[in-house]
Amino acid sequence: MIYVTQPTLPNFDDFTEKLKELWESKHLTNNGKFHQELEQKLAEFLGVEYISLFSNGTLALIVGLQALRITGEVITTPYSFVATTHSLHWNGIKPVFCDICQEDGNLNPDKIEALITPQTTAILPVHVYGNPCDNEKIQKIADTYGLKIIYDAAHAFAVEKNNRTILNWGDLSILSFHATKTFNTFEGGAIICKDATTKQRIDYLKNFGFAGEETVVAPGINAKMNEVSAITGLLQLPLYEKNRLKRQKIVNLYKAKLKNTKGIRFIKSNENIKENYSYFPIFIDKNKFGKSRNDVYDLLKQNNIFARKYFYPLISQFPAYRGLKSAKKENLPVATKMADEVLCLPLYADLELENAEKIIRMINE
Ligand SMILES: *Cc1c(COP(=O)(O)O)cnc(C)c1O
Repeated sequence: MIYVTQPTLPNFDDFTEKLKELWESKHLTNNGKFHQELEQKLAEFLGVEYISLFSNGTLALIVGLQALRITGEVITTPYSFVATTHSLHWNGIKPVFCDICQEDGNLNPDKIEALITPQTTAILPVHVYGNPCDNEKIQKIADTYGLKIIYDAAHAFAVEKNNRTILNWGDLSILSFHATKTFNTFEGGAIICKDATTKQRIDYLKNFGFAGEETVVAPGINAKMNEVSAITGLLQLPLYEKNRLKRQKIVNLYKAKLKNTKGIRFIKSNENIKENYSYFPIFIDKNKFGKSRNDVYDLLKQNNIFARKYFYPLISQFPAYRGLKSAKKENLPVATKMADEVLCLPLYADLELENAEKIIRMINE
């Protein structure tokens, strides 16, 4: 069985060694020693100034929107994991779906302005598959209309453009450290913000609003990262770059051997971007390829290879959202087409090259 992804794990003995330390300290959560150390190490590693760790990426998104007091309507992409839009719903915010660009699957900045109303307060784009959004254009719109930008950067761990992190873009960036992501803490997440005051507010909110033993400054929630996850993160960090390069090798192999296949296209890469190789989506044009995306999905599945249709269906097609005017398929033609054509092929550091070759052969034959 080959799944679309497989988590990387630190050395087991290193892990138990750290756990011994934790057992002795009995400080299991609430901004413990490992939590503090991981925040500091991650800030250095990612090249950001302020980072707050969370129990998962979804709660980080929900709290990030609260921290900036986002209300009313938010313009977002339907081509993502459901948590992006759910985080708006959990804040009583109306999602307004905007179509995407065919080249990279990200929010199409040229389609944003037409969706702005007096109720719009923010834009929630996703760096889908880790490919950076067109931040310059999005920021310009946000500045013109006085909107905030919260980037769902769940796929964009350690991605850089022109040798600089993209995680400082917008007002906030949200990361996920879920088991299926390129950097995992079993479950986990983070918010990256730009000033100490905002980080302080976020840290209050993720801990019930406690600002002191007897002071609660906001109706916060419990979204803190525990010490076992923080330990995992500390042990994962030194392994990250080696694993990234292993994934790069697999991606390069997929690209080399599928690039001449008629009816299959990839997301274009860009030399200025340091990619994290978190996903490898291919887009299958049924008319040119001769078989549909679903045909390929089924064929691989019959051979115990579990590729995934990320992102099909579109978020805008789920019952909670499909009644919205912006969810209509005619408003989202590019997203609809990409969702129908996409297939993410297996990609993880320990995927053997021979198995990648096997997958390629099945598709090509
Ligand atoms: C994984 C993911 C999330 C949610 O993160 P969790 O840590 O699983 O809660 C949010 N947005 C996107 C785009 C994701 O892929």
